[in-house]
Amino acid sequence: MGLSGLDIFKKLPKTNCGECKFPTCLAFAMKLAAGQAMLEDCPYVSDEVKAELAEASAPPIRGISVGTGDEAFKTGEELVLFRHEKTFFNPTVFAVLVSDDMADDKIEELVKQANECEHERVGVILKVKAIAVKAVAGDAGKFKAAVEKVKSLTPKPLILMTEDAALMAAGLEAAGDVNPLLYAATEANADAMGALAKEKGVPLVVKASDLEKLAELSDKLTGMGLKDLVLDPSPRTPKETFVDLVALRRAALKDKVKAFGYPTITFPCEETDDEMFETVLAGLYTAKYGGIVVLSHAAQDRMYPLLVEALNIYTDPQRPMQVDSKWYEIGDPGEDSPVLVTTNFSLTYFIVSGEVEGSKIPSWLGIVDCDGQSVLTAWAAGKFVPEVIAKFVKTSGIEDKVKHRKIIIPGYVAQISGELEEELPGWEVVIGTREAADLPAFLRQFSTG
Ligand code: SF4
Repeated sequence: MGLSGLDIFKKLPKTNCGECKFPTCLAFAMKLAAGQAMLEDCPYVSDEVKAELAEASAPPIRGISVGTGDEAFKTGEELVLFRHEKTFFNPTVFAVLVSDDMADDKIEELVKQANECEHERVGVILKVKAIAVKAVAGDAGKFKAAVEKVKSLTPKPLILMTEDAALMAAGLEAAGDVNPLLYAATEANADAMGALAKEKGVPLVVKASDLEKLAELSDKLTGMGLKDLVLDPSPRTPKETFVDLVALRRAALKDKVKAFGYPTITFPCEETDDEMFETVLAGLYTAKYGGIVVLSHAAQDRMYPLLVEALNIYTDPQRPMQVDSKWYEIGDPGEDSPVLVTTNFSLTYFIVSGEVEGSKIPSWLGIVDCDGQSVLTAWAAGKFVPEVIAKFVKTSGIEDKVKHRKIIIPGYVAQISGELEEELPGWEVVIGTREAADLPAFLRQFSTG
């Protein structure tokens, strides 16, 4: 961070418009200087000033991309120690480990399991994002064959694991142009491994036996011109890993230690043989502050809780998750299908739409923009009220799609039915259920009654 908050302030528009979520440009400048805000949050900074402020606005933890195309992932770019201070940005990436001494069918089983681990929750796709391929046999041919095998089974980004630069070169050749993460540069191989990563333009893990050596090695590699690093303090005991992860994050954010300004990688799969404990460790490192967590397998019963944990931790606590305000067609609704409305809080939408879908009654589900609040909260805040609902119904085109004029509102806001009918002349307001779980029975009765 080369510039002070006041230096940055001088270059801002000074309109105090608040669009960056800070009350004044000065407050924004101070947060930017402290690494707790992003320059992109101010839409009024010119490209010229953006270039000038690039260093000051760079995240204290560099963002590292691994892989290519739609399957690529990013890790790092975190600004705060605690999510309530702002938000966390790039969720922990889960990877599955295979090795070149495994039989082909074992590799196929593990990769297939990782490929099949995909869940949708509140509109977000949660999945295993990478496969780590480890050279164990010490044979370039075997490592190449394992990398080629994995590549043929999945488009997921690769983490190539060996401390032998010659073996790594063989793995890289087999991987091709897919921007893999190389694991790892150590005190012993830093020159060769750094040169390889630099030549291929790929990210590199830095591994050392303690934080002091890790800092030295990180500085050495950046001195060689490498920018995209990932850190592994490599203690391999749960307590030390936890302590190191917290120390690295604090040093990068609070003490501005540039050598530690990179995301981390952890290996719960190599810290225990107990699968349950491995899952617990993965959960711990997801919370504090593992960028990439490598696991021995991706069985559904461990992955779902881990993926949901990461989703929850990396969701912006200051912005409710929202879905778009519009009419959603559930099933294949026609002009006689039921018309329901609710709010645009993601969880509300996904629970209600799931129950409507489960009813097998094709329906129109209208989502009213209530700043992502749930039904009762939005009603209490004056956002899910008759005028707003009526305006949505009148302007959203539903009157051209159905020939009836009945609208179902959530049972929790039964009290607005009279006023809504006044706002919507010609419409009959039907009071629906309080709980979404009761909607299927309600809709079946509504459609036949
Ligand atoms: S968005 Fe930009 S102009 Fe507006 S208050 Fe924030 S820093 Fe100032």
